[in-house]
Amino acid sequence: MRIEPPRHLAPPKGSAPVSNEISEALGRRLRAGTQGEVLFDAASRGRYATDASIYQITPVGILVPRTAEDIVAAIQIAGELGVPVLPRGGGTSQCGQTTGAALVIDNTKHFRGLLHVDVAARTAVVEPGIVLDHLNAALKPHGLWYPVDVSTSAQATLGGMAGNNSCGSRSIAYGNMVHNVLGASAWMADGELVDFGPVAQATGRAVRLAGFVRDLAATHAAEIDERWPKVLRRVAGYNLDIFRNQNERPYTDDGSVNLAHLLIGSEGTLAYTRSLTLKLSELPRAKVLGVVNFPTFHAAMDAAQHIVKLGPTAVELVDRTMIELSLQNPAFRPTIETALIGRPAAILLVEFSGADKGALLPKLKALDELIGDLGLPGAVVRMAEDGPQKNLWEVRKAGLNIMMSLKGDGKPVSFIEDCAVPLEHLAEYTDGLTEVFARHGSRGTWYAHASVGTLHVRPILDMRVDGAQKMRAIAEEAGALVRRYKGAFSGEHGDGICRGEWIEWQFGPAINTAFRAIKQAFDPGDLFNPGKIIDPPRMDDGALFRFAPPESPRPYRRIPITPALDWSAWDVQADPVTEVTTAPGTGGDVTGGFAKAVEMCNNNGHCRKFDAGTMCPSYRVTRDEQHLTRGRANTLRLAVSGQLGPDAFTGEAMRETMDLCVGCKGCKRDCPTGVDMARMKIEFLSHYKARNGHSLRDRLVAHLPDYARLASRLPWLANLRDRWPGAARMSERWLGLSARRTLPKWRSDTFWRADLPFSTGEELLRHAAAGGKAAVLFVDTFNGSFETENALAAVRVLKAAGYALHAVTKDDGHHCCGRTFLATGMVAQAKAKAGALIEALLPFAQAGIPVVGLEPSCLLTLRDETLVMGLGEPARTVAGVALLFEEFIAREMDAGHFALDLRPAGRPILLHGHCHQKAFGAVAPILQVLRLIPEAQPELIESSCCGMAGSFGYEAGHYEVSMQMAEATLLPAVRKHPDAIVVADGTSCRHQIHDGAQREALHVARLLDSLLIRVCR
Ligand SMILES: Cc1cc2nc3c(=O)[nH]c(=O)nc-3n(C[C@H](O)[C@H](O)[C@H](O)COP(=O)(O)OP(=O)(O)OC[C@H]3O[C@@H](n4cnc5c(N)ncnc54)[C@H](O)[C@@H]3O)c2cc1C
Ligand code: SF4
Ligand code: SF4
Repeated sequence: MRIEPPRHLAPPKGSAPVSNEISEALGRRLRAGTQGEVLFDAASRGRYATDASIYQITPVGILVPRTAEDIVAAIQIAGELGVPVLPRGGGTSQCGQTTGAALVIDNTKHFRGLLHVDVAARTAVVEPGIVLDHLNAALKPHGLWYPVDVSTSAQATLGGMAGNNSCGSRSIAYGNMVHNVLGASAWMADGELVDFGPVAQATGRAVRLAGFVRDLAATHAAEIDERWPKVLRRVAGYNLDIFRNQNERPYTDDGSVNLAHLLIGSEGTLAYTRSLTLKLSELPRAKVLGVVNFPTFHAAMDAAQHIVKLGPTAVELVDRTMIELSLQNPAFRPTIETALIGRPAAILLVEFSGADKGALLPKLKALDELIGDLGLPGAVVRMAEDGPQKNLWEVRKAGLNIMMSLKGDGKPVSFIEDCAVPLEHLAEYTDGLTEVFARHGSRGTWYAHASVGTLHVRPILDMRVDGAQKMRAIAEEAGALVRRYKGAFSGEHGDGICRGEWIEWQFGPAINTAFRAIKQAFDPGDLFNPGKIIDPPRMDDGALFRFAPPESPRPYRRIPITPALDWSAWDVQADPVTEVTTAPGTGGDVTGGFAKAVEMCNNNGHCRKFDAGTMCPSYRVTRDEQHLTRGRANTLRLAVSGQLGPDAFTGEAMRETMDLCVGCKGCKRDCPTGVDMARMKIEFLSHYKARNGHSLRDRLVAHLPDYARLASRLPWLANLRDRWPGAARMSERWLGLSARRTLPKWRSDTFWRADLPFSTGEELLRHAAAGGKAAVLFVDTFNGSFETENALAAVRVLKAAGYALHAVTKDDGHHCCGRTFLATGMVAQAKAKAGALIEALLPFAQAGIPVVGLEPSCLLTLRDETLVMGLGEPARTVAGVALLFEEFIAREMDAGHFALDLRPAGRPILLHGHCHQKAFGAVAPILQVLRLIPEAQPELIESSCCGMAGSFGYEAGHYEVSMQMAEATLLPAVRKHPDAIVVADGTSCRHQIHDGAQREALHVARLLDSLLIRVCR
């Protein structure tokens, strides 16, 4: 079977650039006629040129509207100038829906209101830019939720979900978007606001439109009956079948027709949604989970059709590859093991939910019996408790993330990942597709929605090489299977560019013509998102690819860069079948792997989330795409591939984009593909500063460890800035240090001047060799110079616990990890500092003696950046023994070497984790250690970055943003507990808490020291 792709001589619709005159006129008129942010610079346009698909089309410009009037004005101005309009939510579409040579209007900053909730009627009215998780958080107190639970719930907007007719994991119980929208208010291309809702109550223009579509449906009744996929998960084309329902589930409860449903899944091509009226559901009060273990993948697929008859709310697949990946991960292994019986080829997670857990337990029994009847007795793990269920769902999500983090140019590509087939054919379909992949030298990892026959699978393709050809070939063969089993080619992610050409294939020419007529009736001037659904481009048009092949008009290429850090781990290629990667440095990247690391961002938009976790503090306060991990990664990618002009990598637009990145490493941990922007910022700064020079402030910050000894000899002089009237303002003018900040106080009684009961290096090595308890204390510049009491407290606690201690020093001062140099892009100097420290620590590390540090950003530099500075095996050896104070104690406690006898604190304890502690999973040990305090129930503040981030918060230009970051959750939490002891291990966190809440926060070492009674050895 071969489908004839559309041929275009001119650029396909929606991708043709407009002239400079038109673009300038548009920008000018938007600035004059709206109050919104008008972004027409190359970097901003580049940031909005991609979504979570493989495509890239540069928009004409971006408007971030402040008012509804801004949107109306923009629609009118764009219409008059003939520039298309593309409404956008989180930009997480997988098929290119939100890419286009248009005026992109971003609803996410100012149109995110929950306008109204009617608890009794279970309805809500929302603005299009509201994010699903935020909506559900607001509904929770009412015992309600919006149940279209897409995986991207932390970043997907209701406007975008409606645009794509999105579907959640529990669609078998609740249906898709189209089943859960009751009404929409939307602007037409001429600016008229029209209310779409039940046809019986329609007025004005809606009546005419409803009549037109009803007639079309009647005309094409036979074709609709014949061609329309009869599955729940069909999201392609327009919902013409609202007048002749073909869906497994009725679109409305009473069988009436709702014209708003025509907008659902229309991908912004018919009208611009201003608000949506949603049907809410009761929040399930109880859930139970049955995990069915299957000996073969085929058996799992075959069982799904029988399992759904038990009425589950979800049936989700995890295949062997994902099971193996989870087992390899120490964090997930214990959880996945609770779900496994032996080594199954696949598991199905079968969830039942309802009002009462007791009433659900028989469902698990019934599941057990059913699976037994299918020839697999004892194959179900029953999980009735909430905790294990939640953990297992987390593993299911994380497995996907691990898959997405595959390094190399070949990537798992989404283009047939949501075909939906009737359940009775699921096993044959998946077998068939597996054979297709094998024929094309690829392989798929399967996961997700077995309940509705929509399994996600992504073959690994390199779009720069032969990805386009393979994509078409695989799509055609997959299409043949879908047709054979009477399924839907697009069952979840919509059409966009990737599947637009398949609409006619799926529905036939007559219905396709009817779709065109609908578009014509709604949007005769083709203003809204042209080239989507109607007149789509070829799915394999390389000119539209983000990584365009050599033969395309703008082939993707990387500009050679000599990186300051070692990125060779990313400079690899991966085998598309085995996923085994080649050796570091063999991937052929002329940037040494830096570009490939940047390209790991697949635009899934997870960094837009606001809930727990750290990523991304600058976005949380600005809500700007520019100040988002994704925005930064996209800008870097465009810069290092020459798409923003020569030297863009070290240009001003790049600097502005990196400016608010606080280097918190939140993305290193929270980004599904491990985009490590903190490290990328160091790389960027080293190049930017090499070209543009370092400021006096840079030098002051970077060299602080160098002049610390001198400054501490003359503390009265060094502290003049905060004592001398007017000096702070002068420092703001000359150095850019905020006059609203005090600086850390220099003191003469530094840690290094204290007389301490330390062993010499030789003594420590001998002591350890004889089996004695030993540690090397690495005291950083901050705890050693400004907060000596922390370091002294750590010494007392460790000495009292019976450890022999040693601290490495050098003749001209103390050792430093190089952190302050890294923060200012001075990588060579940082390497010299860190190299000297590592050399000093090496003999102890080689003897297996732990190196214990107090300041998270300094100690963890030894486990992170020093490994990519070219310091070789010694750096790895030291990294292997480097532990934070609390990590060390927790480890020793677990080994039975350490116990503390403490008196109760007598007050509640609040903990703020330093971002780098969170990034390295080092918060749990602090809690473990704090729980040693009798009666203590330490509470972790769910905070992102404190906003200080080294010198960031001291800088005048960053003061406001810094305080906003702190005010997001940290400071309100501290103020809410006026009697609590606040524990914060980061120097800058403590400073921020002091400045913002006027409270003294303590390093955990000081708290322990203050409560110490005696130590049990
Ligand atoms: C990792 C990953 C997992 C995913 N999981 C799921 C899943 O479980 N289920 C699922 O269904 N999808 C899933 N998706 C796809 C995508 O996240 C969803 O389609 C999501 O609902 C899109 O929301 P958004 O806010 O990002 O919309 P966008 O991508 O910004 O927009 C989507 C469409 O809606 C249109 N639109 C936006 N606002 C308006 C408006 N005001 N008026 C008119 N049209 C508008 C846009 O023009 C566009 O055509 C996933 C994507 C990724 C990357
Ligand atoms: S930076 Fe990470 S989380 Fe953000 S869009 Fe890119 S891949 Fe997703
Ligand atoms: S390091 Fe922090 S601030 Fe920078 S992009 Fe990552 S999460 Fe955002």
